[in-house]
Amino acid sequence: MTGFFITGTDTGVGKTCITAALLRAFLDAGRHALAVKPVQTGCLKTEHGLVAEDAEVYGRLAAPYFPDGYPEVCCRKYIPACSPHLAADMAGDTLTPDTLAEEVRTLGANTLTLVEGAGGVAVPLGDGMTMLDLMQRLDLPVIIVADNKLGMINHTLMTIEMVRNAGLSVAGVVINNTTPVSDDGSLRRSNVATIEEYGDVSILADIPNCDGGTKSDALFVEAMAKALPLLDSTAKSDVQNDLNFDADHIWHPYTSATNPLPTVKVRSARGTRLILEDDTELVDGMASWWCAIHGYAHPTLDRAMREQQGRMSHVMFGGLTHDPAISLCRKLIDLAPEGLEHVFLADSGSVSVEVALKMALQYMQTKGEVERTKLFTVRGGYHGDTCGAMSVCDPNNGMHHLFSGLLPKQIFAPRPACRFDEEYDPSSLEEAARVLKKHSSEIAAIIVEPIVQGAGGMWFYHPEYLRGLRALADEHGILLILDEIATGFGRTGKFFASEWAGISPDILCVGKGLSGGYMTLAATLATSEVAHTISADGGVLMHGPTFMGNPLACAVANASLDLLQQTDWQSQVHNIETWLNQALAPCRELRDVANVRVLGAIGVVELDAPVNVPQLQEQFIQRGVWLRPFGKLIYAMPPYIISEEEVARIGAVIHNAIAENRHQ
Ligand code: PMP
Repeated sequence: MTGFFITGTDTGVGKTCITAALLRAFLDAGRHALAVKPVQTGCLKTEHGLVAEDAEVYGRLAAPYFPDGYPEVCCRKYIPACSPHLAADMAGDTLTPDTLAEEVRTLGANTLTLVEGAGGVAVPLGDGMTMLDLMQRLDLPVIIVADNKLGMINHTLMTIEMVRNAGLSVAGVVINNTTPVSDDGSLRRSNVATIEEYGDVSILADIPNCDGGTKSDALFVEAMAKALPLLDSTAKSDVQNDLNFDADHIWHPYTSATNPLPTVKVRSARGTRLILEDDTELVDGMASWWCAIHGYAHPTLDRAMREQQGRMSHVMFGGLTHDPAISLCRKLIDLAPEGLEHVFLADSGSVSVEVALKMALQYMQTKGEVERTKLFTVRGGYHGDTCGAMSVCDPNNGMHHLFSGLLPKQIFAPRPACRFDEEYDPSSLEEAARVLKKHSSEIAAIIVEPIVQGAGGMWFYHPEYLRGLRALADEHGILLILDEIATGFGRTGKFFASEWAGISPDILCVGKGLSGGYMTLAATLATSEVAHTISADGGVLMHGPTFMGNPLACAVANASLDLLQQTDWQSQVHNIETWLNQALAPCRELRDVANVRVLGAIGVVELDAPVNVPQLQEQFIQRGVWLRPFGKLIYAMPPYIISEEEVARIGAVIHNAIAENRHQ
């Protein structure tokens, strides 16, 4: 949709005259334009129904271009002249930004649309939503109308700030003068200059006083016509040009620099939806690689970020500390499995794994067990893309052969064979036990993803196997590192996946959902035994990234953890599990499908052969869903706020894509 959103610093500042004048100016300039009003309060009740004064003004100014009368352009009309939320409530109606935006889009399809708000940006629509939420949904450049009077600098600058904080662009400010000037005009000129300077905005027009009646229409139109060149310069970016640059110069994950897999450009994200440049909305089945657990643009997380940014975005962690980090580490220790008392804040999941490996090695070194320099893990795992982490990834998926000169050789056992939902087969642990026993004197630690192996194959294994590993680690005096980067914070139905087995690790890695998907942040937690041993005799852990303990990331993580604890995430994840089971069940009937499995908020369809990623991606997008398959796997790990209908849509889209591709 193209156009502008016209808001005011207050009610009664002349928004309607300016919207109508701008409409006329665009029409005079040969543009196909329409002014619409999502909510109109204060309508008159007549024999022809409710009449909106604003629409009458549009009709009057645009009359030459609408000989048959101006079309119906108000989405919702109410009689009481009060706040929209109240007027709607009195009429037994509900206003939601999503439905209003949809209605506006329908009215303004294929035309430059001037959307006039009601009152200012903080005007309530109901259910905690304001006009600003509707403005975000429409994502049009914003024109702010201000009345040049006492207090206007304050109101205008606050409006500009709110609009920008919402991620919207301010196309400019129109200054109106609704009252006659009582001095030589210098005060009013100073107001305008102050807004331009402090607000860093364009003044689109400064319209002298008039009484707002018919005789002043020409004055308004003339002023707005002069503003058109300034407004045209706020045109949107050239998407194809940007995508070409991206493909030519920007490396994306796991793809060629010269012939990359296709990418789509996202303009914004909200709730469970990704919004593309062409306004297409996709239901997000990926939670941005599993981290956006609360969905996107959550008001609580947004606020936490802004508040922290107001204090400080970053300071080094060497020699300095701060509230966001202290409070986060307190929470992590409280929430983590028993015995984990020391926290290292890392800047990504992979780094937290590196730190865990270093902790394990330093622990053994300090204990004098200097031969213990290797790690034991199982095939099918994934722990990150840095060297230490890569060395414990599945040798095939982790492409060890590419980096064989660089990666340390670790000790591998087969992938845990016993499925999560099968009866436990004790023999599935035999090979791991044998390998561990054989190499026990060289091994510092076991590292595994508990219960769910993620990027290595989306494999769910039996909790008894994990308990077995804990017992084997204890038996051989080896540390157990659990990588809960993907599984932590409720994803599998337990807060940490290790709870399925009722065990605690010696070292724990968390990341992804930790910051609610807002900032790159991870943490490595260790027992006192590990921390105290490393630190005995003045020992120090040799790690310290620049962005360690980043206050913005910690602040949003604090908010995310609080939010998680305030919401009934258990029910959310349990519901998603039920819905995924229903939605993916029909895939079992498809010939190319090898297996369908669901655990918590993870749903997996495994095919017999690797999928065609670009083809599937395109099909999914066309059907309004965002999924990113890999290998033989099409899977969903959605935000916890996803609805039953959205899960059903994801399931249907996956099913149809597999079924259709079979016939090609
Ligand atoms: N461990 C696991 C289990 C993961 O799933 C991931 C990320 N997919 C990582 C480590 C690496 O985290 P990051 O991408 O933040 O470095």
